[in-house]
Amino acid sequence: MTPNIDCKEVSRLLSAGMDNTMPVAERARLRHHLVLCDACRNVNDQFDLLRRAIRQIGRNEPPPQ
Ligand SMILES: [Zn+2]
Repeated sequence: MTPNIDCKEVSRLLSAGMDNTMPVAERARLRHHLVLCDACRNVNDQFDLLRRAIRQIGRNEPPPQ
């Protein structure tokens, strides 16, 4: 059995924005943890909002010269 990912690892991956670039198996473990863990789900929601806001800003501004 694969060891479960812990809260520390989850927040590290989320804060590094790794959840979109890491292997599918790793992401599945992270998603599974988020389903079970309220605290990490909250953290994930915060980062989701942040990333969406950043993308929004990036879209409205001209690209850097
Ligand atoms: Zn957790």
